[in-house]
Amino acid sequence: MARMTAPPAIVILGVGAVATARRVQKVFEGATIHGLQGRIPAADADVAYTELSAHLRGLYASGTPVVALCAAGIVIRCVAPLLSNKGVEPPVLAVAEDGSAVVPLLGGLSGANAMAREIGAALDVPPAITTSGELRFGACVLNPPDGYALASIDQGKRFVSDLLAGEATRIEGDAPWLDGVQLPRANDARRTIRVTPLAWSGATDELVIHPRSVVAAIDETATGDGLPERLLDAMRARGLAEQSLAVLLAPASRTGDPVLHDAAQALQVALRFTADSDAGNNAAQMLRASLHVPHTPFDAHANASVAFAAAHAPLDPATVGRARGKLSVIGLGPGAASLMAPAARAALTQATDILGYETYVNMAGPFRADQRVHGTDNREEMQRARHAFELASAGRHVAMVSSGDPGVFAMAAAVLEALDEAQAQTHYAAWSAVELEIVPGVSAAFATAAQAGAPLGHDFCVLSLSDNLKPWSVIETRLRHAAEADLVMAFYNPISRARPWQLDKALDIVRDFRAPSTVVVLGRDIGRPGATLKTTTLADLKSADVDMRTMVIIGSSATRAFCAAGGREWVYTPRWYG
Ligand code: SAH
Repeated sequence: MARMTAPPAIVILGVGAVATARRVQKVFEGATIHGLQGRIPAADADVAYTELSAHLRGLYASGTPVVALCAAGIVIRCVAPLLSNKGVEPPVLAVAEDGSAVVPLLGGLSGANAMAREIGAALDVPPAITTSGELRFGACVLNPPDGYALASIDQGKRFVSDLLAGEATRIEGDAPWLDGVQLPRANDARRTIRVTPLAWSGATDELVIHPRSVVAAIDETATGDGLPERLLDAMRARGLAEQSLAVLLAPASRTGDPVLHDAAQALQVALRFTADSDAGNNAAQMLRASLHVPHTPFDAHANASVAFAAAHAPLDPATVGRARGKLSVIGLGPGAASLMAPAARAALTQATDILGYETYVNMAGPFRADQRVHGTDNREEMQRARHAFELASAGRHVAMVSSGDPGVFAMAAAVLEALDEAQAQTHYAAWSAVELEIVPGVSAAFATAAQAGAPLGHDFCVLSLSDNLKPWSVIETRLRHAAEADLVMAFYNPISRARPWQLDKALDIVRDFRAPSTVVVLGRDIGRPGATLKTTTLADLKSADVDMRTMVIIGSSATRAFCAAGGREWVYTPRWYG
């Protein structure tokens, strides 16, 4: 039985429920308010639905906990057609619109009563709990906390009935959550609550609860199709319960092996790796080297390709060996948080280490105290890229930040070059095993173009005017060809204190091919505080109007500017070409 940890959907029908819904929302992190379209203003709901009954059934079927702020009867009628399998139902609660009653209806085994108590506490009303075991003992014995799983829900129900009928129980193993529970206990009781990673024997006088505490170590040779099944068989052969499995541990040399990823996913366990390849490549040795809490080995043979060990309590996978490292090369967009891709935001949240040029790292923050920021460690791009791989190949989650898009005059190419260059080196395998992702961003040319209208509406090119990393002669040739081809041109790095004359030189070349009336857009600090946008012409453009925080877009012969009624100026390049 899985414990319901997904955040609930708070479903409301009328505006009278909004205030209570907000109070309930505060109780559960990530909870969303679902409002009936047409009746609940969009600002008061996170999700709009059109038909209550279909919506509730959809939530129920997807296993989402439901808190419906309406009559219990309505909720029951809506989900009734789906009520057949009591084992997998999510919590469903009815709460009075005015917050005066909290009724857990379904999902007593997946936390409905616990939710009812939490909501009751927030609304200051006693929850209407009707589950007899829960009422008698003050907690649901069949709903152990995260990190534990019940061996059999049917046996659990039988066991609780026995207790309600007057039987006493003893507890074997560690069940700290039962400490405060009013169970009838006796040391010589015939009934036993057993907390153990060992499989339930089927005996009807015990309630077996498995801590997720087992680590399965596999060596180089354990691979191929059917690995999850073989692991489970090996667990059964050692008397271990499959619900106890918490971590799959593999040698560092197998980091990135897709077979392992698939297996861990199929088994729904964490995948971890030994810290370095000489930790011992025999499965039993790997466990000894990587498991840092007291544990019991379950090795069938010292040289088996699979070995198991059980910790004495649920295991935090983060304490076993290390993770496969990850390197996310992300673009922040031009600056505004709203223009950063959610995938980039997610990579920043997950990162243990953040690298990048200091200005951008500051833009990406603030960071949590547990995140390491390497803003100034390496000024040079290739060094920074190598540093990122060193951290990631040691199991860290690294976010490498660039502004705009990471692939446009930014870190993504440097990161790939660092990896490519490492081919002949001993760390190549480890660097290649890093989970590498490039997350795109809104590049400065696009952010500026959107502010101005659509100057990049037809063929265009982007050029960096910096001659730090390429000879000036190449820039001149490209400018000439691009100008002659009548492409719209977006200039990155147009000027800097160290490169004062290059922009004027570039404009001279462009002026040889384009009319003085050619439309030019200058965007400075677009998406950042103090942003400015200016439209001018090639004749009037002066390098003094441009600095290193400016994007210069030179129109083609077709690019035009006009003022809409009201005075707003728009620039665009039509889709056709005449
Ligand atoms: N990877 C970045 C570009 C880095 S090169 C991107 O995709 O946007 C740096 C140049 O980009 C600057 O010299 C400037 O020309 C331009 N630039 C970056 N951010 C900008 C912004 N917010 N507004 C205008 N131009 C910007």
